[in-house]
Formats: sequence, structure tokens, C-alpha cells
Amino acid sequence: MPRPRYRSRSLRRVQKKMPGGKTKQVYVKKKPGLHKCAECGAELKGIPRLSATKAKNIAKTKKRPERLYGGFLCAGCARQKLKQEARLSKD
Ligand SMILES: [Zn+2]
Repeated sequence: MPRPRYRSRSLRRVQKKMPGGKTKQVYVKKKPGLHKCAECGAELKGIPRLSATKAKNIAKTKKRPERLYGGFLCAGCARQKLKQEARLSKD
């Protein structure tokens, strides 16, 4: 029977090969969920699935696309939004 803290399903079980050749079950933290577009709910590309502690150690430019609404809207929704803004500002 695993230790009480490993009985929870909040940790993922992975079969890992050890240096001696035997496989052993190890407990790994689950990845956080996918980032979604605020407009249509589609999966956002170019955003790594990192925990907060790992995300703070990488550059901001590697955490989201470097464009307007990058990391907030998907490419299609961002394009539409920018078009709308341009049309509104003309009047
Ligand atoms: Zn979208």
C-alpha cells in the first residue's frame, strides 16, 4: 500500500525506468490546464503549460505571443478585434 499522501489522485503515476534496469512507479505533479481564448474558448498556441513556480523563471517573451492581445485572445479573434478597433477609430 502506498504512503497516504500518494493515495491521492492529484498526483500522476508514471512508470519510470531506473538506472539498474527495473521499472518503478513514480508520482509526478499534473500539468496545469490549457490556456483558452477569452472570446471563443479555443486553445491558445505558443503558451507553455507551466506551473506558477516554473513560469516565473522563464522570460516573459517565452510565455505568450508578442502581439496585441497575445496570451489573451487567439489569432483569429485578435485579428477581428483589431479590425473592429480600426473601424471605430475612423469615425
Ligand atoms: Zn478566439
